[in-house]
Amino acid sequence: MPQIDDKLAPIYEQVVRRNAGEPEFHQAVREVLESLGRVVAKRPDYLEDALIERLCEPERQIIFRVPWTDDKGQVQINRGFRVQFSSAMGPYKGGLRFHPSVNVGIIKFLGFEQIFKNALTGLPIGGGKGGSDFDPKGRSDGEVMRFCQSFMTELYRHLGEYTDVPAGDIGVGGREIGYMFGQYKRLTNRYEAGVLTGKGLFYGGSLARTEATGYGNTYFTRAMLQTGGEDFDGKTTVVSGSGNVAIYTIEKVQSYGGKVVACSDSSGYIVDENGLDLDLIKEIKEVRRGRIGEYVRLKGQGYFVKSGEGSIWDVPCQVAMPSATQNELTGKDAAKLVKNGVQAVGEGANMPSTPEAIRTFQQAGVKFGPGKAANAGGVATSALEMQQNASRDRWSFEQTEARLATIMRDIHDSCYETAEEFGAPGDYVIGANIAGFIRVAEPMRAFGVI
Ligand code: NDP
Repeated sequence: MPQIDDKLAPIYEQVVRRNAGEPEFHQAVREVLESLGRVVAKRPDYLEDALIERLCEPERQIIFRVPWTDDKGQVQINRGFRVQFSSAMGPYKGGLRFHPSVNVGIIKFLGFEQIFKNALTGLPIGGGKGGSDFDPKGRSDGEVMRFCQSFMTELYRHLGEYTDVPAGDIGVGGREIGYMFGQYKRLTNRYEAGVLTGKGLFYGGSLARTEATGYGNTYFTRAMLQTGGEDFDGKTTVVSGSGNVAIYTIEKVQSYGGKVVACSDSSGYIVDENGLDLDLIKEIKEVRRGRIGEYVRLKGQGYFVKSGEGSIWDVPCQVAMPSATQNELTGKDAAKLVKNGVQAVGEGANMPSTPEAIRTFQQAGVKFGPGKAANAGGVATSALEMQQNASRDRWSFEQTEARLATIMRDIHDSCYETAEEFGAPGDYVIGANIAGFIRVAEPMRAFGVI
């Protein structure tokens, strides 16, 4: 098991002590600190002024009550969060997640990862994350609207195009962003397009933002494959999830000739050995907001495995792209994938592989792209949306996608080269953590102790 350098171990111990009961946050911090031993060995000055301790402590954490009325006239109470982690690189930037599993530890782990991810994009954005334990599943549009309005009524005072710019994440798509932007506009009496990203195309959204995370992960994973002279063409691929990230991953992988045979949602997974019919999946998930198992009945082929009765990672594949949620791919899953001949893993979700799974992949020589690098295409395109809003401009799909492709190639190369420079060739985890850290550490030093 990788160890934390002796000089950094007290920082980790303090994070665990100070943030009791937040295992996902500890996991995210631990993974970064494990990489940073190599940096402080070369650059002990990064240990000065408690720079790394400061980076592990959010600049601000906001927790608030979100009361709203359901369709039966009953008052419901949820909890809202926004963790403004680091503004060293620019305004806080990171998505909002609406899911019953959300708690402060989950938001902190996501916000912490976001700092390094955003730095890797090379664009001027800090790191933050937010959300609520609200579950939009099964709720009417009216209920979702009332929830979003109440959520924004509290959160708006902490936002601003130069302060904090949220976007979507699990459970927050175009519908939710629309309701939240409408309420922000109403409360502030400002048409401040750059305050939220992932907006609809008719009111300041960017072309290619919807596709960006899935496309970006595909570019990144393809770049990893290409370092070994391989490509997606003809490769069997499994993509977990069937939300925003998964759908556009499947689309791009298919465009490169990859054969995607399985995807999932929280109810289970489907397998179609003939290759998934993406139009049907979009119809089920984006239009009907239905369950993935409906695919088998509507398509008349393939099979469905209920959640708890098997793992999507049992399906043999050469490329695995986990795109649902954190810790969805365990050490056992990774061992199975390795046994079945997986060559590359590109994380579309945030921290979907457990530490044991990552170790298993790396020991087996599988090319492993960590989420903070591989899924950075979403936030990168959000930053491009902010650029378009700031200049009152609108770019074509091709122009935006071309910028995204270049950014993902640069992130890949920067992780690859940094890993080599720090004595860990081919280790994209170390490459991403170190390259991201250095970019954030430099402005932090320049600003002094704040
Ligand atoms: P969506 O809400 O669009 O889709 C999430 C998908 O994952 C759904 O299929 C959902 O199933 C499934 N899922 C969610 N939670 C669980 C769970 N606990 N167990 C099993 N399945 C689950 O979200 P996104 O596609 O936007 O996000 C997916 C991942 O990608 C997240 O980790 C997110 O943080 C990350 N990400 C997203 C970005 C973006 O631009 N959207 C950017 C970077 C990272 P069901 O519908 O049944 O809940």
